[in-house]
Amino acid sequence: MTYDPENIFAKILRGDLPCHKVYEDEATFVFMDIMPRADGHCLVIPKTPCRNLLDASADQLAAVIATTQKMAQAVMAAFGAGGVTVQQFNEAVGGQEVFHLHFHVLPRHEGDRLRP
Ligand code: ADP
Repeated sequence: MTYDPENIFAKILRGDLPCHKVYEDEATFVFMDIMPRADGHCLVIPKTPCRNLLDASADQLAAVIATTQKMAQAVMAAFGAGGVTVQQFNEAVGGQEVFHLHFHVLPRHEGDRLRP
């Protein structure tokens, strides 16, 4: 499977589409999900082209996981969450809709349910 540079997250990275940016470092970028399934639902992506987990380099994975951990800690504090769900989908059959590697960070509260 190849990387399509016209995917939505590539356009966000290029500044061709708007987003609500949360965090950025040299290797990763974080923004709010446009259809949040929980308050504070954000997406962590590498800045370099990568279709999904199956396609990721060790460096991309290390950077994205380190930022995902930072975001999980940050949303716990910012949203007073009791926990965090991290989700990641690969290929259409695996539930992936946008083909640029991303990790969903979803703050969780006692007794809540993720919105569809
Ligand atoms: P799924 O839609 O099954 O969660 P993905 O893991 O590929 O599949 O998730 C894509 C995510 O990207 C969705 O949560 C969707 O709401 C989000 N999204 C799509 N377009 C934008 C956008 N322009 N800005 C922010 N988030 C977006």
